Amino acid sequence: MAKAQVEVRRSWRRRRTVTAYREGDKIIVLLPARMSRAEEEHWVEEMLRKLQRSETRRRSPARSSDEILLARCAELNAKHFAGRASPSSVRWVPPMRTRWASCTPGDATIRVSERLREVPSWVLDYVLVHELAHLLVPGHGADFWKLVRAYPKTDRAMGFLEGLSAAAGLGIEVEGD
Ligand SMILES: [Zn+2]
Repeated sequence: MAKAQVEVRRSWRRRRTVTAYREGDKIIVLLPARMSRAEEEHWVEEMLRKLQRSETRRRSPARSSDEILLARCAELNAKHFAGRASPSSVRWVPPMRTRWASCTPGDATIRVSERLREVPSWVLDYVLVHELAHLLVPGHGADFWKLVRAYPKTDRAMGFLEGLSAAAGLGIEVEGD
């Protein structure tokens, strides 16, 4: 963030509001034309801090590493499965052609496609819940979905993934593993 080039644009139409956004590798800060130099300095600093905060928030912590992915599974396991679905490992893997994630109940391992690194955390949570449920129930029968639907955003997340698959022309079935 400190290295980013900042361009301040002043506008006569702008009265009070200050806005900042990224444009390529620059950060544009829009200010009302009447602001003093001191105010400008204050607001540029303030907006850079705000922008950085919101960009950090947007990055889901579960994206950063396998360890944090495993920790997230432990939380979801405790919350939705009373601790019964405990994976031995959870890893990011290169994009799979037909799946968002997969699991091997035999050794309790879960693999998550790197295609999901950028999805919102509630979508990633759904995928993890889906795979955790497979540690308890193989296949996609009624028992399985009853477990998965303990996660309240199941339908929304499935819709999101369906849209993502369609938009990218991936042909990944939501109901698949
Ligand atoms: Zn499945």
